[in-house]
Amino acid sequence: MKWIRFILIALVFISGRTGLLAEEGMYPLTELDKLDLRKMGFELEAADIFSEGQTSLSDAVVKLGGCTGAFISAEGLILTNHHCSYGAVQKASNEENDYLKNGFIAQSAEEEVEAKGFTVRIVDSYKDVSQEVLSALHDTMSFQQKKQAIQKKEKEIIKRTEEENPGKRAEVSEMFRGEKYMLFIYTYIKDVRLVYVPPVALGEFGGDVDNWEWPRHTADFSLLRAYVAPDGSPADYAQDNVPFTPKKFLKVNPDGVEEEDFVFILGYPGRTYRHYTASYLDYEQNYRMPFIVDWDQKQISVMQEMSQMNRDVALKHSARIKGLANTEKNYRGKLTGLHRLNLVEKKRAQEKEIGKFIDNDDQLQKQYGQVLDDINKIYNEIKCAMEQELILSYLTRNIVLLNVAKSVVTSAEERQKEDLERQSAYMDRNFEQTKKSALRSVGDYYEPTDKILLKELISKANQRPADLKIEALDKIFRLKTNESPSEKYIDEAFSGTQLADKDFVEKAFNITPEEIAELNDPLINWYIKLKPEYEKIKKINEERNGALDALYAKWNEVKKLYLKKDFIPDANGTFRMTYGHIRGYSPRDAVYCLPITTLQGVVEKTTGQEPFNTPQNVIDLFYKKDFGRFKSANLDCIPVCLLYDMDTTGGNSGSPVLNARGELIGLNFDRTFEATINDYAWSETYSRSIGVDIRYILWIIEKVGGADHLIKEMEI
Ligand code: ASP
Repeated sequence: MKWIRFILIALVFISGRTGLLAEEGMYPLTELDKLDLRKMGFELEAADIFSEGQTSLSDAVVKLGGCTGAFISAEGLILTNHHCSYGAVQKASNEENDYLKNGFIAQSAEEEVEAKGFTVRIVDSYKDVSQEVLSALHDTMSFQQKKQAIQKKEKEIIKRTEEENPGKRAEVSEMFRGEKYMLFIYTYIKDVRLVYVPPVALGEFGGDVDNWEWPRHTADFSLLRAYVAPDGSPADYAQDNVPFTPKKFLKVNPDGVEEEDFVFILGYPGRTYRHYTASYLDYEQNYRMPFIVDWDQKQISVMQEMSQMNRDVALKHSARIKGLANTEKNYRGKLTGLHRLNLVEKKRAQEKEIGKFIDNDDQLQKQYGQVLDDINKIYNEIKCAMEQELILSYLTRNIVLLNVAKSVVTSAEERQKEDLERQSAYMDRNFEQTKKSALRSVGDYYEPTDKILLKELISKANQRPADLKIEALDKIFRLKTNESPSEKYIDEAFSGTQLADKDFVEKAFNITPEEIAELNDPLINWYIKLKPEYEKIKKINEERNGALDALYAKWNEVKKLYLKKDFIPDANGTFRMTYGHIRGYSPRDAVYCLPITTLQGVVEKTTGQEPFNTPQNVIDLFYKKDFGRFKSANLDCIPVCLLYDMDTTGGNSGSPVLNARGELIGLNFDRTFEATINDYAWSETYSRSIGVDIRYILWIIEKVGGADHLIKEMEI
């Protein structure tokens, strides 16, 4: 076996020299036709991936909140990550029915449990609407007015499209800032249920220690099911809804893959910033990310301490802690990468070259000579305002009841306006979801945590120099005198508020601003006092972003002239394809990592302590060598996780990993520590993503979970 691996490593080396190199690229639908897929290694045509009006692989790939998923049966069964369903599992769990800890298996449709707040989208069609969007702009407008005009035009297009296509969901996505806008129409499903979730000891094996690391041994998968009304239309969760019949579901290939096999991913990567300037990266590296890492660590430690109270408190906090820990480590990875690669300086050097290119031509100089300076000036302003803006935004993002206060106050005001004039979350098409999400957050509220985090933020604000104190905070909490607000003042406000009561909140969502004021709720009153501050910031940000839209459009224009080529838009939560190979890498000097792990590694890592506490039945099956039909003959074991050189980012979680014929052989869930930098730059040498091998998933469902009915449903 060692020899086989040795030969494979040699092959990697040779293939690198023969042109089988991976390439950067999260290709949008518009690019697929232009690619020579056969040459890349596909045994498919572009129309097999997406074809409007025809059935194609894209009909099987869904956007699932901030993640991706894929249909793997004719009855709407969806495969996605464990960490993507985590929030729903947490909400369905309590001390008695602890699905998070013990896992969950629905033996029949009746036993499936609502995945609260989950929705599914499948892309039906897309269209370039740049001209229409940009027609909203006039030279006489300020940048803020321009930003608002674009937002309003997008809402108009969405509204019109949804009226023309009842039951569908429309979205306008900005592909290039200030330049290119696409209208996507999605099939939209609102009833999603939990079907199978492995125990957390498997689904999150390795926890935060192994997160963003390779070698990996995590069974990060779960199964959900999409439901619609009996007539096939999208409907809210209801007893008599029926499983959705997808136009296409993926063929699951239990034979898996080998090292160096060609693979590709379809999914919904969230955001990348590869076309942003050095000044933006500098802001990220030296200001925003360090501040956030610090604050996230604080929040995590507070919530971890609270979680020791009892299991119910721990369950309330678990999804938040997990999310924060994920971002915190991701940012640390990015910071390491930014320093190691000296990316800011590299970008600056490229910008200098572009500057020379511009200066050499009078016409270019006239058109683009000022662009970079103007962009840099804006990031400078952003830097200066950052701390104040972040503290204020965390107040309503991280203090649960202040967040609810903000939602009800905003709702009262926005609901008075015409639909198209409202903030998007309060438009008719989104209002119910906004309300439900606020009510769900009340369910996770824990008073001691809210109070401690509030005091921490106030003390952060307090540490700022006197002339930089935040006015509204100062008024509420008397920051100028540098005395922290008395415990009593905060305790009284929290014991006086009714925002922890779901019925009260539900009612508060449907009243007028005057009635809101009459409630005289202490936390609502705090928010009302803070509101002018938020409005000021919103206006400034619209102005900055409006200016950046116009500047980036110009900057990209001249960059294309300089590079003499078009480039692919940054990831923006829309459907993308990326391809590559199952391939190892060298993260450090003298270290080479193979690209497939096995169950042997799970057992080796097991300590019996969280997060390395493998369930005993898995260990027993390993020692009995009870691998069934899912064993890899080459590895003589169950393959567990896969490493590949594809171009992915957050949002690609839950994306199907497919072989050249489009059959499912893995499930993407992460990247290596080095590849967290993908969001800013991709590299053939360090960009590696991580998936669960389909054989491990099937083995767990069949041998560990005993859910043969699901294996049958997948028609394996
Ligand atoms: N773990 C990530 C996610 O949650 C995937 C990634 O960032 O590569 O989307």
